[in-house]
Amino acid sequence: MITADRELQDQFASDNTAGACPEALDALVAANAGWQPSYGTDEITHRVCDRLREVFETDCDVYFVFNGTAANALSLAALCRSYHSVICADCAHVETDECGAPEFFSNGTKLLRAVALQGKLPPAEIGRLVNLRSDIHYPRPRVVSVTQASELGTVYSPAELAAVSEAARLAGLRVHMDGARFANAVAARGCSPAELSWRAGVDVLCLGGTKMGLPLGEAVVFFDRELSAEFAWRCKQAGQLASKMRYLAAPWLGVLEHDAWLRRAAHANRMARRLADGLTRLPGVALHAPCEANGVFVNLPAVAANHLRAAGVHFYTFIGGAARFMCSWATSEEAVDRLLSLAAAAFETRRKEQ
Ligand SMILES: *Cc1c(COP(=O)(O)O)cnc(C)c1O
Repeated sequence: MITADRELQDQFASDNTAGACPEALDALVAANAGWQPSYGTDEITHRVCDRLREVFETDCDVYFVFNGTAANALSLAALCRSYHSVICADCAHVETDECGAPEFFSNGTKLLRAVALQGKLPPAEIGRLVNLRSDIHYPRPRVVSVTQASELGTVYSPAELAAVSEAARLAGLRVHMDGARFANAVAARGCSPAELSWRAGVDVLCLGGTKMGLPLGEAVVFFDRELSAEFAWRCKQAGQLASKMRYLAAPWLGVLEHDAWLRRAAHANRMARRLADGLTRLPGVALHAPCEANGVFVNLPAVAANHLRAAGVHFYTFIGGAARFMCSWATSEEAVDRLLSLAAAAFETRRKEQ
């Protein structure tokens, strides 16, 4: 019987099982001095907003919320009226994992599911869903939502994003990006944050902090400032306005300093690549989707998957039945290699049983 050591058990289940990275934590501790004005009027929060405007090379409007569900739901609600609809991939987090929060906070805006290809929304799906109906009985399409990096660990190129935005623009729709893993996407593509967002037509970005290595918190970045009118009230009403805002903001200062966020994300991506290479060397294991960011999606033979689970390794079986393993800033090469040994042992057990 093989067993996973304690460190391996939860490490690959998600990129939110890791702790906060040192840069984030140091900045948090540094913020814990003296007195500061509350509700986001403090100096630290202002500094992070300015820093993000530098990072994105534009005069964007920034808000901080506690988690990704709030960031997505509130930003979509800001773009839509209750009778509107949002076109998203069928595997999108807003559709599958937010308990109806986008619909709830927008008072009824409906999500229209596009058939995704390897996690990405094909531009042609936008036209199809818009032109499907134009009558009064159909919720009026208003926004296209894309996830970068996608729920299947793939990454849109600037050109792919531009094609989505162009299809959206032709239909009169705005573009929302769920960037829970935006840092991984930027690190993977090696282009600028601007190129993967507003320059490719994105109007509002939910910029992930938690999975990147903050203790908690996400930023909502409006590139079209007209869309953020009254957003502050929306956050307050939804219980997302932190009174000690500096604690939500400060960790950002730490990771944005000297591009630590992109170095950490690049490391997570490299660990995923190592894991993907190792797993696909095992007999009969194939990638379910290309490994382009920090997630590995593989088709594991059921017996091997069961043995890994019995050994105590937690992982999700995902869209299309693939096993998902996530890497984070804290994943080490040694941990990846130990997981690979366990996987190899699971295969050995399977061979003996056959
Ligand atoms: C994790 C994640 C979120 C945020 O989820 P919360 O648990 O609400 O913080 C949003 N989108 C995607 C694609 C995610 O993976």
